Amino acid sequence: MTATQTAPEAREYRTEVKQLLDILAHSLYTDREIFLRELISNASDALNRVQFEMLTNHDVIDPDAKLAIWVRFNPDEKTITVSDTGVGMNHDELIENLGVIAHSGARAFLDSAKEGKASLEEIIGQFGVGFYSVFTVAEEVTVTSRSYRPEDEAWSWRSAGDSRYELTPADKSSRGTDVHIRLKADAAEYASAWRLEQIIKKHSDYVSFPIYVIDETAEEVDEDARQPVNRQTALWRQTPSKVESEEYDEFYQQLTLDFEKPLLHVHMVADMPVNLRALLYVPAKREGSLLNPRVDHGLRLYSRKVLIQERNKDLLPEYLRFVEGVVDSEDLPLNVSREMVQTNPAMRQIRKALTGRMLKELKSLADKEPDRYSQFWREFGVFLKEGIAVDFTNKDALVELLRFHSTNAAGEEEWTSLPEYVERMGEEQQEIYYVLGDDLKSTLRSPHLDYFRAHDIEVLLLVDAIDGFMIANLREFDGKALRNIDDAGLDLPEDESETEEDAGAVSEETLAKLAGRFKEVLGERVLDVRESKQLVDSPCRLVSPEDSFDRDLQRVRRFMDEEYEAPKKVLEINRKHPIVANLARILESNPDDPLLDVSIEQLFDNAQLMDGLLTDPAEMVARIQTLMESAVSAHVEGNEA
Ligand code: ADP
Ligand code: MG
Repeated sequence: MTATQTAPEAREYRTEVKQLLDILAHSLYTDREIFLRELISNASDALNRVQFEMLTNHDVIDPDAKLAIWVRFNPDEKTITVSDTGVGMNHDELIENLGVIAHSGARAFLDSAKEGKASLEEIIGQFGVGFYSVFTVAEEVTVTSRSYRPEDEAWSWRSAGDSRYELTPADKSSRGTDVHIRLKADAAEYASAWRLEQIIKKHSDYVSFPIYVIDETAEEVDEDARQPVNRQTALWRQTPSKVESEEYDEFYQQLTLDFEKPLLHVHMVADMPVNLRALLYVPAKREGSLLNPRVDHGLRLYSRKVLIQERNKDLLPEYLRFVEGVVDSEDLPLNVSREMVQTNPAMRQIRKALTGRMLKELKSLADKEPDRYSQFWREFGVFLKEGIAVDFTNKDALVELLRFHSTNAAGEEEWTSLPEYVERMGEEQQEIYYVLGDDLKSTLRSPHLDYFRAHDIEVLLLVDAIDGFMIANLREFDGKALRNIDDAGLDLPEDESETEEDAGAVSEETLAKLAGRFKEVLGERVLDVRESKQLVDSPCRLVSPEDSFDRDLQRVRRFMDEEYEAPKKVLEINRKHPIVANLARILESNPDDPLLDVSIEQLFDNAQLMDGLLTDPAEMVARIQTLMESAVSAHVEGNEA
């Protein structure tokens, strides 16, 4: 039985493919040219894979075949054929890979299209839909492929982009894949050398295998005389001073398919202590775009220009996972397995060098371009905070990169660094103060700030969920301890004017009685109730009994643990505050007044709320109503009197 005698094997696409094809067939979109980028990118992947396979496996057909991509076209017949000498596909792989949606972007595409989030034109143009984008230009597509495995046979897969495709055995003796396209009438323009070359330069210039464009109707040219269309430079192996900044941007965009230019690029060339060529990028946005989300991280790892791993996660610490790019080292063995990559000593040196350099470049961005650095910090600051919590070896470098809001820089877009804070410290100030909270606005109202505001002492405002983790590992800077200002044991100078008796304040003795009543009402919920030396404008606050840094993690736990119970603290009350003073007076004149205990409960909840420690805010609503009723009726009585 020969290939031609076998009846074609007809199959139906999976539903999602049908939907996709239907959308593509009915879309009139302008950016159809990206079909070529997708086919070339698949060819390049297949070439990378066969190159990698040949490092260890010698039982591969056509081991000496040139690794390249050929784009042949026929302007008379309106056809294009994209060929490669990559891994190829056997019968089952053709079905698995081309009969379902493999491309992760394609599924996202379908969802966005269904939800009407963006126009089809935008969606397809921006991120492509993998192989199926070929149906935006193709009347019919025939993929003929022969796998690199000697035992596999060649097959042809054919589809007109409707609901079906068919498979037939093929006569192809050489390794690789030919994607043959019969163009739609309105896509005939693509069967032109000029157009194809233009598209390749725009979208595939840095593909590392040569791409040749060949007119099938022209006279045969000797293969060796052909010139590739793409520059195929391993840009990372160039001398940095010879590379233009646009080239760096273009390379990044072709590598990541990101539509924005990167925020920063770092080109590293080193031979000692380890051979290393690397091109690292910080993207402009953390999430990528809606249509091109960053779903995975890791760097492309090459050894002598052979791609070893698509997304290696061991080349940088995990907290730098937002970095994109390429790393190439001749010191890595070519026949690496993933395990070997991890334990290889050269690998550890590379990681150390890359991490150090990346942090150094960020520092220099911060020094030279503070605005761009702020932009970086907004997107990626949380990652560096994570670094503080986990990377002790690079802590000094990381600490300098931190940015904070503070009482001196309280705007959403205002930041201070620790060195800047230290520079502003008054002569007597020995420690760096911070307060933890849920957001800027409410934290600025924290009662803990009373004293610091009155004395014009700057306090860092830590309002990110991760700050508790970070600060637990950041106990000092520049020889100065970092202190949470909810600490009861803070050693702060007392202000003369404030120790004088205020006209509105009650006596110490009266206050002691009130504190006793607080303890009765709050019971186990507080460790103690006592007078505050620091409060100015606030009636009370909760302080931590001792300087245990565990308490910085409490707010983190509150987010993660449903059973979370706020830790016990000391309640400090301000006897100069009218609410406190008047409560003390009520206690003396009418200890059974129900307003007394309700107010105590409410003051306690207010204090918890200000610290971001209140677990059930709904509970206080009923109490607030009781208080309001009382206030309103007092008001009416007052008016009537
Ligand atoms: P993606 O490239 O994101 O995986 P595609 O839709 O572009 O998605 O391709 C689907 C799959 O088809 C690829 O993952 C690959 O396995 C296979 N494939 C496509 N083109 C080729 C090719 N030229 N050589 C070998 N395999 C290919
Ligand atoms: Mg692809």
